[in-house]
Amino acid sequence: PSRQEVSYFGAGPAPLPTSVVEAGAKAFVNYNDSGLGLGEISHRSPTANKILADAKANLSTLLDIPDNYEILFMQGGGSGEFSAVVQNLVPVWIERRRRRAEAEILKANPGTEKDQLNELVYQRLQKEVDEELKLDYLITGSWSLKASQEAAKLVGSKYVNVALDARKANDGKFGKIPTEETWSLTPTKREGGKGSAFVYFCDNETVDGVEFQSFPKSLEAQGQDEEDERLVVADMSSNFISRKVDVSKYAVIFGGAQKNIGVTGITLAIVRKDLLPPHTATPPPTLLHRLNIGGLPGPVVLDYATIAKNNSLYNTLPIFNLWIAGQVMADLVSEFGAQKVSGQEAVANKKAQLIYGALDKYPAVYQVVPDKSIRSRMNICFRVSGGDDAKEKEFIAGAEKRLLQGLKGHRSVGGMRASNYNAVPLENVQKLVQYLEDFANGQ
Ligand code: PLP
Repeated sequence: PSRQEVSYFGAGPAPLPTSVVEAGAKAFVNYNDSGLGLGEISHRSPTANKILADAKANLSTLLDIPDNYEILFMQGGGSGEFSAVVQNLVPVWIERRRRRAEAEILKANPGTEKDQLNELVYQRLQKEVDEELKLDYLITGSWSLKASQEAAKLVGSKYVNVALDARKANDGKFGKIPTEETWSLTPTKREGGKGSAFVYFCDNETVDGVEFQSFPKSLEAQGQDEEDERLVVADMSSNFISRKVDVSKYAVIFGGAQKNIGVTGITLAIVRKDLLPPHTATPPPTLLHRLNIGGLPGPVVLDYATIAKNNSLYNTLPIFNLWIAGQVMADLVSEFGAQKVSGQEAVANKKAQLIYGALDKYPAVYQVVPDKSIRSRMNICFRVSGGDDAKEKEFIAGAEKRLLQGLKGHRSVGGMRASNYNAVPLENVQKLVQYLEDFANGQ
Protein backbone atom coordinates (compact mmCIF):
# COMPACT_ATOMS: atom_id res chain seq x y z
CA PRO A 1 0.00 0.00 0.00
CA SER A 2 0.97 3.64 -0.32
CA ARG A 3 1.64 5.93 2.67
CA GLN A 4 -1.69 7.62 2.11
CA GLU A 5 -3.58 4.34 2.40
CA VAL A 6 -2.06 3.28 5.71
CA SER A 7 -3.20 4.70 9.04
CA TYR A 8 -0.47 4.00 11.54
CA PHE A 9 -1.05 4.25 15.30
CA GLY A 10 2.27 2.86 16.54
CA ALA A 11 3.60 4.07 19.89
CA GLY A 12 7.07 4.98 18.73
CA PRO A 13 8.76 5.16 16.38
CA ALA A 14 5.65 6.87 15.14
CA PRO A 15 4.36 8.42 11.93
CA LEU A 16 5.90 11.63 10.65
CA PRO A 17 4.21 14.21 8.43
CA THR A 18 4.40 12.98 4.83
CA SER A 19 5.70 16.35 3.65
CA VAL A 20 8.64 16.03 6.08
CA VAL A 21 9.62 12.48 5.12
CA GLU A 22 9.38 13.32 1.43
CA ALA A 23 11.59 16.39 1.84
CA GLY A 24 13.80 14.29 4.12
CA ALA A 25 14.29 11.65 1.44
CA LYS A 26 15.59 14.38 -0.88
CA ALA A 27 17.73 15.95 1.83
CA PHE A 28 19.26 12.55 2.55
CA VAL A 29 20.46 12.31 -1.04
CA ASN A 30 21.29 15.89 -1.96
CA TYR A 31 20.60 18.67 0.51
CA ASN A 32 19.69 21.99 -1.09
CA ASP A 33 21.55 21.01 -4.27
CA SER A 34 24.84 20.95 -2.41
CA GLY A 35 25.77 17.57 -3.89
CA LEU A 36 25.81 15.93 -0.45
CA GLY A 37 23.16 14.41 1.77
CA LEU A 38 22.54 15.39 5.37
CA GLY A 39 23.91 12.10 6.67
CA GLU A 40 27.23 12.99 5.08
CA ILE A 41 28.02 16.55 6.07
CA SER A 42 30.11 17.62 9.06
CA HIS A 43 28.23 18.41 12.22
CA ARG A 44 30.52 21.44 12.49
CA SER A 45 29.73 22.84 9.02
CA PRO A 46 27.86 26.13 8.60
CA THR A 47 24.93 24.14 7.17
CA ALA A 48 24.70 22.01 10.29
CA ASN A 49 25.02 25.07 12.49
CA LYS A 50 22.11 26.72 10.75
CA ILE A 51 19.96 23.59 11.11
CA LEU A 52 20.82 23.52 14.81
CA ALA A 53 20.11 27.21 15.37
CA ASP A 54 16.78 27.00 13.52
CA ALA A 55 15.68 23.92 15.48
CA LYS A 56 16.48 25.67 18.76
CA ALA A 57 14.69 28.84 17.72
CA ASN A 58 11.58 26.98 16.62
CA LEU A 59 11.40 24.87 19.78
CA SER A 60 11.87 28.02 21.82
CA THR A 61 9.02 29.72 19.99
CA LEU A 62 6.67 26.76 20.25
CA LEU A 63 7.12 26.25 23.98
CA ASP A 64 7.94 29.86 24.98
CA ILE A 65 11.17 28.65 26.54
CA PRO A 66 12.55 31.36 28.85
CA ASP A 67 16.05 32.75 28.29
CA ASN A 68 17.38 31.11 31.43
CA TYR A 69 16.98 27.67 29.84
CA GLU A 70 19.38 25.83 27.60
CA ILE A 71 18.13 23.57 24.79
CA LEU A 72 20.33 20.53 24.35
CA PHE A 73 20.28 17.97 21.55
CA MET A 74 21.77 14.71 22.69
CA GLN A 75 21.83 10.99 21.95
CA GLY A 76 21.09 8.00 24.14
CA GLY A 77 17.31 8.29 24.00
CA GLY A 78 14.89 8.80 26.83
CA SER A 79 16.66 5.95 28.61
CA GLY A 80 19.96 7.82 28.47
CA GLU A 81 18.27 10.73 30.22
CA PHE A 82 17.18 8.45 33.07
CA SER A 83 20.89 8.35 33.90
CA ALA A 84 21.68 11.91 32.82
CA VAL A 85 19.30 13.56 35.27
CA VAL A 86 20.86 11.65 38.15
CA GLN A 87 24.37 12.33 36.94
CA ASN A 88 23.72 16.06 36.55
CA LEU A 89 21.41 16.92 39.42
CA VAL A 90 22.97 14.98 42.29
CA PRO A 91 26.16 17.09 41.90
CA VAL A 92 23.99 20.22 42.08
CA TRP A 93 22.69 18.98 45.45
CA ILE A 94 26.24 18.19 46.57
CA GLU A 95 27.54 21.57 45.47
CA ARG A 96 24.77 23.40 47.31
CA ARG A 97 25.52 21.40 50.45
CA ARG A 98 29.25 21.97 49.99
CA ARG A 99 28.78 25.73 49.82
CA ARG A 100 26.54 25.70 52.88
CA ALA A 101 28.97 23.55 54.84
CA GLU A 102 31.93 25.72 53.89
CA ALA A 103 30.13 28.94 54.88
CA GLU A 104 29.02 27.53 58.23
CA ILE A 105 32.43 26.12 59.11
CA LEU A 106 34.11 29.41 58.21
CA LYS A 107 31.55 31.36 60.22
CA ALA A 108 32.24 29.23 63.30
CA ASN A 109 36.02 29.21 62.74
CA PRO A 110 37.11 32.10 60.56
CA GLY A 111 40.50 31.65 59.01
CA THR A 112 40.38 27.84 58.83
CA GLU A 113 43.19 26.69 56.54
CA LYS A 114 42.10 25.55 53.07
CA ASP A 115 43.22 21.95 53.45
CA GLN A 116 41.60 21.61 56.83
CA LEU A 117 38.46 23.32 55.56
CA ASN A 118 38.22 20.88 52.64
CA GLU A 119 38.62 17.97 55.01
CA LEU A 120 35.93 19.26 57.39
CA VAL A 121 33.61 19.89 54.45
CA TYR A 122 34.25 16.41 53.13
CA GLN A 123 33.49 14.78 56.48
CA ARG A 124 30.28 16.73 56.84
CA LEU A 125 29.21 15.97 53.29
CA GLN A 126 29.91 12.30 53.74
CA LYS A 127 27.46 12.27 56.65
CA GLU A 128 24.89 14.39 54.81
CA VAL A 129 25.01 12.18 51.72
CA ASP A 130 24.60 9.14 53.88
CA GLU A 131 21.68 10.50 55.86
CA GLU A 132 19.97 13.08 53.69
CA LEU A 133 20.52 12.52 49.97
CA LYS A 134 17.14 11.66 48.46
CA LEU A 135 15.89 11.43 44.88
CA ASP A 136 12.09 11.54 44.79
CA TYR A 137 10.31 9.46 42.13
CA LEU A 138 6.63 9.45 41.26
CA ILE A 139 6.02 6.06 39.69
CA THR A 140 2.89 6.16 37.56
CA GLY A 141 3.78 3.71 34.81
CA SER A 142 6.48 1.54 33.33
CA TRP A 143 8.76 4.38 32.17
CA SER A 144 8.95 6.20 35.49
CA LEU A 145 9.46 2.79 37.08
CA LYS A 146 12.41 2.16 34.78
CA ALA A 147 13.82 5.62 35.50
CA SER A 148 13.65 4.99 39.25
CA GLN A 149 15.35 1.63 38.81
CA GLU A 150 18.13 3.26 36.83
CA ALA A 151 18.62 5.85 39.58
CA ALA A 152 18.78 3.09 42.18
CA LYS A 153 21.33 1.25 40.07
CA LEU A 154 23.49 4.34 39.68
CA VAL A 155 23.50 5.86 43.14
CA GLY A 156 22.09 3.07 45.30
CA SER A 157 18.51 2.27 46.20
CA LYS A 158 18.79 3.79 49.65
CA TYR A 159 18.91 7.24 48.07
CA VAL A 160 15.78 6.71 45.99
CA ASN A 161 12.55 7.73 47.66
CA VAL A 162 9.56 6.26 45.88
CA ALA A 163 7.19 9.10 46.73
CA LEU A 164 4.39 7.39 44.87
CA ASP A 165 3.91 3.91 43.48
CA ALA A 166 0.60 4.21 41.69
CA ARG A 167 0.19 0.43 41.51
CA LYS A 168 -0.37 0.20 45.25
CA ALA A 169 -3.76 1.90 45.13
CA ASN A 170 -4.89 0.03 42.02
CA ASP A 171 -4.58 -3.73 42.56
CA GLY A 172 -0.92 -3.80 41.61
CA LYS A 173 -1.51 -2.23 38.20
CA PHE A 174 -0.81 1.16 36.72
CA GLY A 175 -3.81 3.14 35.55
CA LYS A 176 -4.62 5.63 38.32
CA ILE A 177 -2.80 8.51 39.97
CA PRO A 178 -3.76 8.73 43.65
CA THR A 179 -4.38 12.22 45.06
CA GLU A 180 -1.35 14.28 45.99
CA GLU A 181 -2.03 14.11 49.75
CA THR A 182 -1.08 10.45 49.60
CA TRP A 183 2.34 11.09 48.03
CA SER A 184 5.36 10.96 50.31
CA LEU A 185 7.69 13.59 48.86
CA THR A 186 10.81 14.36 50.88
CA PRO A 187 9.76 17.45 52.90
CA THR A 188 11.40 20.77 52.03
CA LYS A 189 12.75 23.15 54.67
CA ARG A 190 9.42 24.95 54.89
CA GLU A 191 7.78 21.57 55.47
CA GLY A 192 10.22 20.73 58.25
CA GLY A 193 12.68 18.66 56.22
CA LYS A 194 15.80 19.11 54.11
CA GLY A 195 14.41 18.56 50.63
CA SER A 196 15.45 16.15 47.90
CA ALA A 197 17.92 16.48 45.03
CA PHE A 198 14.97 16.46 42.62
CA VAL A 199 11.47 15.14 42.04
CA TYR A 200 11.02 13.03 38.94
CA PHE A 201 7.87 12.23 37.04
CA CYS A 202 6.87 10.98 33.60
CA ASP A 203 4.33 13.39 32.11
CA ASN A 204 2.84 10.78 29.80
CA GLU A 205 3.25 7.06 30.36
CA THR A 206 3.36 5.61 26.85
CA VAL A 207 2.79 1.99 27.81
CA ASP A 208 0.02 2.51 30.33
CA GLY A 209 -1.86 5.39 28.70
CA VAL A 210 -1.61 7.58 31.79
CA GLU A 211 -1.01 11.33 31.48
CA PHE A 212 -0.72 14.00 34.16
CA GLN A 213 -3.59 16.37 33.39
CA SER A 214 -1.71 19.34 34.81
CA PHE A 215 1.42 20.24 36.74
CA PRO A 216 1.18 18.68 40.24
CA LYS A 217 0.34 21.33 42.86
CA SER A 218 2.69 19.90 45.46
CA LEU A 219 5.65 20.42 43.11
CA GLU A 220 4.99 24.16 42.79
CA ALA A 221 7.80 26.41 44.02
CA GLN A 222 7.46 27.33 47.67
CA GLY A 223 9.72 30.38 47.63
CA GLN A 224 13.07 31.63 46.47
CA ASP A 225 15.18 29.75 49.03
CA GLU A 226 17.02 26.82 47.41
CA GLU A 227 16.20 24.66 50.44
CA ASP A 228 12.52 25.20 49.67
CA GLU A 229 12.89 24.53 46.00
CA ARG A 230 11.85 21.30 44.40
CA LEU A 231 13.89 20.71 41.28
CA VAL A 232 11.36 19.08 39.01
CA VAL A 233 12.38 16.69 36.25
CA ALA A 234 9.85 15.54 33.67
CA ASP A 235 10.06 12.90 30.98
CA MET A 236 7.97 14.24 28.11
CA SER A 237 9.13 11.68 25.53
CA SER A 238 5.62 10.83 24.43
CA ASN A 239 3.76 14.13 24.83
CA PHE A 240 6.44 16.66 23.90
CA ILE A 241 5.09 19.67 21.98
CA SER A 242 1.51 18.44 22.26
CA ARG A 243 0.36 20.98 24.82
CA LYS A 244 1.32 24.20 26.54
CA VAL A 245 3.95 23.77 29.24
CA ASP A 246 5.17 26.33 31.76
CA VAL A 247 8.85 25.56 31.31
CA SER A 248 9.81 27.80 34.24
CA LYS A 249 8.40 25.20 36.66
CA TYR A 250 11.01 22.62 35.63
CA ALA A 251 14.68 22.03 36.23
CA VAL A 252 14.88 19.57 33.34
CA ILE A 253 12.43 18.46 30.67
CA PHE A 254 13.60 15.72 28.35
CA GLY A 255 12.33 13.42 25.65
CA GLY A 256 13.37 11.18 22.80
CA ALA A 257 12.37 12.50 19.37
CA GLN A 258 10.73 9.38 17.98
CA LYS A 259 7.13 10.10 18.94
CA ASN A 260 6.09 13.71 18.40
CA ILE A 261 9.27 15.28 17.09
CA GLY A 262 11.15 13.19 14.60
CA VAL A 263 13.10 10.01 14.05
CA THR A 264 14.98 8.01 16.65
CA GLY A 265 18.50 9.13 17.38
CA ILE A 266 17.98 12.61 18.82
CA THR A 267 17.09 13.36 22.42
CA LEU A 268 16.02 16.78 23.59
CA ALA A 269 16.74 18.22 26.99
CA ILE A 270 15.62 21.63 28.24
CA VAL A 271 17.74 22.50 31.24
CA ARG A 272 17.69 25.50 33.59
CA LYS A 273 20.98 27.31 33.07
CA ASP A 274 21.81 27.95 36.72
CA LEU A 275 21.99 24.18 37.22
CA LEU A 276 24.90 24.04 34.77
CA PRO A 277 28.34 25.47 35.64
CA PRO A 278 29.65 26.36 38.05
CA HIS A 279 27.54 23.78 39.89
CA THR A 280 28.34 20.72 37.82
CA ALA A 281 31.91 21.80 37.11
CA THR A 282 32.36 21.90 40.87
CA PRO A 283 32.51 20.00 43.08
CA PRO A 284 35.65 18.69 41.49
CA PRO A 285 35.59 15.05 40.46
CA THR A 286 37.94 14.24 43.32
CA LEU A 287 35.26 15.21 45.83
CA LEU A 288 32.67 13.18 43.92
CA HIS A 289 35.06 10.24 43.80
CA ARG A 290 35.79 10.53 47.49
CA LEU A 291 32.11 10.72 48.36
CA ASN A 292 31.79 7.52 46.36
CA ILE A 293 28.18 7.83 45.21
CA GLY A 294 27.58 5.08 42.67
CA GLY A 295 27.80 6.11 39.01
CA LEU A 296 29.08 9.66 39.57
CA PRO A 297 30.60 11.68 37.92
CA GLY A 298 29.38 9.61 34.91
CA PRO A 299 30.02 9.64 31.15
CA VAL A 300 30.86 12.95 29.51
CA VAL A 301 28.29 12.55 26.70
CA LEU A 302 25.53 12.80 29.31
CA ASP A 303 27.03 15.83 31.05
CA TYR A 304 24.66 18.75 30.45
CA ALA A 305 27.33 21.34 31.16
CA THR A 306 29.65 19.88 28.53
CA ILE A 307 26.89 19.58 25.95
CA ALA A 308 25.71 23.14 26.65
CA LYS A 309 29.21 24.61 26.50
CA ASN A 310 29.68 22.97 23.08
CA ASN A 311 26.30 24.00 21.65
CA SER A 312 25.24 20.32 21.47
CA LEU A 313 28.29 19.56 19.32
CA TYR A 314 30.65 18.07 21.89
CA ASN A 315 30.59 14.88 19.85
CA THR A 316 29.05 13.98 16.50
CA LEU A 317 25.38 14.92 16.41
CA PRO A 318 23.23 13.15 13.78
CA ILE A 319 22.41 16.13 11.58
CA PHE A 320 19.88 14.33 9.39
CA ASN A 321 17.86 13.38 12.48
CA LEU A 322 18.22 16.92 13.79
CA TRP A 323 16.97 18.32 10.50
CA ILE A 324 13.86 16.13 10.63
CA ALA A 325 13.09 17.31 14.17
CA GLY A 326 13.75 20.90 13.15
CA GLN A 327 11.46 20.59 10.15
CA VAL A 328 8.62 19.16 12.26
CA MET A 329 8.98 22.09 14.65
CA ALA A 330 9.27 24.67 11.88
CA ASP A 331 6.07 23.36 10.31
CA LEU A 332 4.21 23.62 13.64
CA VAL A 333 5.45 27.20 14.05
CA SER A 334 4.24 28.18 10.61
CA GLU A 335 0.98 26.23 10.90
CA PHE A 336 -0.09 27.63 14.25
CA GLY A 337 1.59 31.04 14.26
CA ALA A 338 0.85 33.05 17.39
CA GLN A 339 -1.09 30.16 18.91
CA LYS A 340 2.18 28.25 19.09
CA VAL A 341 1.87 24.87 20.77
CA SER A 342 -1.67 25.66 21.97
CA GLY A 343 -2.76 25.24 18.36
CA GLN A 344 -1.36 21.71 18.31
CA GLU A 345 -2.88 21.06 21.74
CA ALA A 346 -6.36 21.84 20.43
CA VAL A 347 -5.86 19.39 17.54
CA ALA A 348 -4.51 16.68 19.87
CA ASN A 349 -7.43 17.12 22.26
CA LYS A 350 -9.97 16.96 19.48
CA LYS A 351 -8.51 13.75 18.03
CA ALA A 352 -8.30 12.13 21.47
CA GLN A 353 -11.89 13.08 22.25
CA LEU A 354 -13.06 11.47 19.01
CA ILE A 355 -11.39 8.17 19.89
CA TYR A 356 -12.41 8.11 23.56
CA GLY A 357 -15.91 9.21 22.51
CA ALA A 358 -16.27 6.18 20.24
CA LEU A 359 -14.87 3.83 22.90
CA ASP A 360 -17.16 5.18 25.63
CA LYS A 361 -20.19 4.83 23.39
CA TYR A 362 -19.90 1.04 23.47
CA PRO A 363 -18.98 0.09 27.05
CA ALA A 364 -19.94 -3.53 26.51
CA VAL A 365 -17.44 -3.84 23.65
CA TYR A 366 -14.61 -1.45 24.63
CA GLN A 367 -13.08 -0.80 28.04
CA VAL A 368 -10.54 1.98 28.39
CA VAL A 369 -7.72 0.69 30.64
CA PRO A 370 -6.70 3.72 32.74
CA ASP A 371 -9.01 5.70 34.97
CA LYS A 372 -11.01 8.48 33.32
CA SER A 373 -9.26 11.15 35.43
CA ILE A 374 -5.83 10.53 33.93
CA ARG A 375 -6.47 9.34 30.39
CA SER A 376 -3.63 10.07 28.01
CA ARG A 377 -4.37 12.13 24.90
CA MET A 378 -1.40 10.48 23.22
CA ASN A 379 -1.65 6.74 23.97
CA ILE A 380 -5.16 5.42 24.18
CA CYS A 381 -5.19 1.98 25.80
CA PHE A 382 -8.30 -0.17 25.72
CA ARG A 383 -9.50 -3.75 25.86
CA VAL A 384 -12.02 -5.41 23.58
CA SER A 385 -14.76 -7.50 25.25
CA GLY A 386 -13.00 -7.43 28.60
CA GLY A 387 -9.78 -8.75 27.12
CA ASP A 388 -11.29 -11.80 25.44
CA ASP A 389 -8.44 -13.22 23.39
CA ALA A 390 -10.50 -14.25 20.37
CA LYS A 391 -12.35 -10.94 20.24
CA GLU A 392 -9.14 -8.95 20.46
CA LYS A 393 -7.62 -10.97 17.65
CA GLU A 394 -10.76 -10.40 15.60
CA PHE A 395 -10.50 -6.66 16.29
CA ILE A 396 -6.88 -6.52 15.14
CA ALA A 397 -7.55 -8.61 12.04
CA GLY A 398 -10.46 -6.37 11.04
CA ALA A 399 -8.32 -3.28 11.61
CA GLU A 400 -5.48 -4.66 9.48
CA LYS A 401 -7.94 -5.27 6.64
CA ARG A 402 -8.65 -1.53 6.63
CA LEU A 403 -4.91 -0.77 6.87
CA LEU A 404 -5.32 0.54 10.41
CA GLN A 405 -1.96 -0.53 11.81
CA GLY A 406 0.07 -0.50 15.01
CA LEU A 407 -2.93 -0.93 17.30
CA LYS A 408 -1.69 -3.81 19.41
CA GLY A 409 -1.05 -2.80 23.01
CA HIS A 410 2.27 -3.14 24.79
CA ARG A 411 2.90 -6.73 25.84
CA SER A 412 2.88 -5.78 29.53
CA VAL A 413 -0.63 -4.32 29.34
CA GLY A 414 -2.19 -6.31 26.51
CA GLY A 415 -5.24 -5.24 24.53
CA MET A 416 -5.09 -2.26 22.19
CA ARG A 417 -3.22 1.01 22.11
CA ALA A 418 -3.99 3.74 19.61
CA SER A 419 -1.23 6.32 19.66
CA ASN A 420 -2.46 9.74 18.73
CA TYR A 421 0.75 11.68 18.19
CA ASN A 422 0.93 15.06 16.49
CA ALA A 423 1.58 13.66 13.03
CA VAL A 424 -1.42 11.30 13.05
CA PRO A 425 -3.80 13.05 10.65
CA LEU A 426 -7.39 13.79 11.70
CA GLU A 427 -8.64 11.74 8.76
CA ASN A 428 -6.78 8.66 10.04
CA VAL A 429 -8.41 9.16 13.43
CA GLN A 430 -11.76 9.41 11.66
CA LYS A 431 -11.05 6.12 9.89
CA LEU A 432 -10.26 4.50 13.23
CA VAL A 433 -13.43 5.91 14.78
CA GLN A 434 -15.45 4.55 11.87
CA TYR A 435 -13.90 1.14 12.42
CA LEU A 436 -14.61 1.30 16.17
CA GLU A 437 -18.25 2.02 15.33
CA ASP A 438 -18.51 -0.69 12.69
CA PHE A 439 -16.81 -3.34 14.79
CA ALA A 440 -19.02 -2.55 17.81
CA ASN A 441 -22.17 -2.62 15.71
CA GLY A 442 -21.18 -6.01 14.30
CA GLN A 443 -20.99 -7.55 17.79
N1 PLP B 1 10.23 7.55 28.32
C1 PLP B 1 9.06 7.36 27.70
C2 PLP B 1 7.83 8.05 28.22
C3 PLP B 1 8.99 6.52 26.59
O1 PLP B 1 7.83 6.32 25.96
C4 PLP B 1 10.17 5.89 26.13
C5 PLP B 1 10.16 5.00 24.94
O2 PLP B 1 9.18 4.58 24.43
C6 PLP B 1 11.35 6.11 26.83
C7 PLP B 1 11.35 6.96 27.90
C8 PLP B 1 12.62 5.46 26.41
O3 PLP B 1 13.07 6.06 25.28
P1 PLP B 1 14.27 5.46 24.39
O4 PLP B 1 13.76 4.22 23.78
O5 PLP B 1 14.50 6.58 23.43
O6 PLP B 1 15.41 5.25 25.31
